Amino acid sequence: MIEFINVGKTYPNNVKALQDINLKIEKGEFVAIIGLSGAGKSTLIRCINRMHDISEGELIVDGVKVNALKGREIRNYRQRVGMIFQSFNLVTRISVLKNVLVSFVPHLPFWRKVIGAFSKEQKIKALTALDQVGILDKAYVRVDQLSGGQQQRVALARTLAQNPDIILADEPIASLDPVTARQVMDDFKRINRDTEMTFIINIHHVEMALEYADRIIGVREGRVVYDGEAKNVTEEV
Ligand code: ADP
Ligand code: ADP
Repeated sequence: MIEFINVGKTYPNNVKALQDINLKIEKGEFVAIIGLSGAGKSTLIRCINRMHDISEGELIVDGVKVNALKGREIRNYRQRVGMIFQSFNLVTRISVLKNVLVSFVPHLPFWRKVIGAFSKEQKIKALTALDQVGILDKAYVRVDQLSGGQQQRVALARTLAQNPDIILADEPIASLDPVTARQVMDDFKRINRDTEMTFIINIHHVEMALEYADRIIGVREGRVVYDGEAKNVTEEV
């Protein structure tokens, strides 16, 4: 479970990106965070994997105080909390498989990742993840040969290969056309159903959020202004 208790986040330039956030997200939920640009969505999910430190309150994930983690503990923690970005964050000049394998050695410098020798077991895990998202046939293709939707699937496979408890996605469909965006959301939904992984997805496209998510968290000016079932969302949110 993810628990925000009176969480606040102020950036060094004094922008209060989050204020008085109180949330509980249970294992296996499929949550969309909606809100205008600048509302604080990105900041909210980046606190969960410790890309950002919170400034106030307490953030507890499966009993662990996230902000008390140090060094190696943060690295281990991040293996359990996968992150997917709008821009996919893939290395486009290397193969799909290699991009997924890289998830096993996040702490190595880039050149060592690329030349890294991976075990048979790691390769099987990576290929299994590619199969889960339907692009096993692209394993040996360079990422820059793929469409945007296929690249987002590689990013999802890379995250899945870590077998995380939580997947955070920051505007994962923002740069995709509507058809491809739906395919990616369908993948997320299916994997959420088939596994116990919790999904927390930032989406500024409200209709997509309402269509796919079980629970909607609406954020405005750093505060939660709605938290509930998608079907009860009114226009105001
Ligand atoms: P959203 O994801 O909803 O667009 P963000 O979480 O990115 O919102 O931003 C929330 C607020 O915090 C905005 O006012 C934004 O300009 C500010 N902000 C985001 N990142 C930083 C940063 N690294 N340093 C300073 N201000 C930031
Ligand atoms: P995204 O919505 O994909 O997070 P943004 O354009 O909001 O992208 O931000 C891009 C980067 O700039 C992020 O790392 C964010 O933290 C940072 N950033 C956003 N707003 C500010 C700001 N007002 N001051 C400093 N950095 C910011």
